[in-house]
Amino acid sequence: MKSGDRNIVFTGIQPSGIIHIGNYVGAIRGLRELIEKHTSYCCIVDYHAMTVPYDVSEFSNHILDAATVNLACGIDPDKAVLYVQSDVPQHTELQWLLSCLTPLGLASRMAQFKEKSRRQKESVCIGLLTYPILQAADILLYKANLVPVGQDQVQHIEFSRDLARAFNQRYGDCFPEPEAILGETPKILGTDGNDKMSKSLNNYIAVTESKEEIWKKLRPAKTDEARKRKNDPGEPTRCNIFTIHRAFSRSETNEDIISHCRAGTIGCIDCKRRLLESMVEELTPIRERYLALRKSPKQVEEILATGASTAREVAMETMEQARELVGIRPIPRQR
Ligand code: ADP
Repeated sequence: MKSGDRNIVFTGIQPSGIIHIGNYVGAIRGLRELIEKHTSYCCIVDYHAMTVPYDVSEFSNHILDAATVNLACGIDPDKAVLYVQSDVPQHTELQWLLSCLTPLGLASRMAQFKEKSRRQKESVCIGLLTYPILQAADILLYKANLVPVGQDQVQHIEFSRDLARAFNQRYGDCFPEPEAILGETPKILGTDGNDKMSKSLNNYIAVTESKEEIWKKLRPAKTDEARKRKNDPGEPTRCNIFTIHRAFSRSETNEDIISHCRAGTIGCIDCKRRLLESMVEELTPIRERYLALRKSPKQVEEILATGASTAREVAMETMEQARELVGIRPIPRQR
């Protein structure tokens, strides 16, 4: 633990093949600040990614890639424990203890479960229902009290608080109640301007895309519907492009955009061109680090192995305490 530090930070990111700018501004950027001051865990949550259909043959590449992107985004492994969830079996062990405390009604009321199960064409697995219990286990295993997340995860963090409280009341004090830390841009819509940016809806811009690739997606992206012609006045607060501006552009640019958009003196394409410049300024160094790191997968594997061994030590300690509290015998030591 860092000296004088009473906060423990945890964040999880799914290896779903793409890390998009929503993940970056919603969670990774906040984590990057928090790791400077606090004991921090950044977990590639591969078990979570198995709750929806996924490509088995690509899965291990996606896991490595998610770690590589996080490193490229500035998650310094000397300052944060970067590891893969399935390398620490205590996550699913604690999940079981928490499952036995979770009312079925509470789990089935989670908005993400309802939404994902509605969208899923193939049959919905129990894992999608119990996903937030595993997420609570991820967080509580490290006794984390701060969880940088996007808006969509706030309900799950509340759920983790409920489970921490339920555990402490029933078995005795063990877990702090974690708190969601929302960044300045907790929700970015996709380029369709309708739904949350996400890989599965194919409405994303990945953090590692080139300027040309970003422009290809940004150019046709939806803007304020009131602006049918170039000179129609618009309202930036209704426009997802402006939300992305706020995440990437300097405040002078944003103020300029607000006044010109409201006056109808800047067209949407010019507004997007300025956004492209801001995004490229921030994302180019990330892309360059990513492309360089991709050439050294062994280095990334080593970082993950070190991270897993640090995480396991903490996880084992928590599980010893939790097992004792719930009345399970300690694991017999091998002779
Ligand atoms: P996804 O939601 O894309 O499947 P994850 O579940 O791995 O990705 O989310 C990782 C983090 O990114 C979470 O904290 C989540 O809240 C955040 N996040 C995801 N999408 C967005 C978005 N469109 N805007 C802001 N934050 C987001």
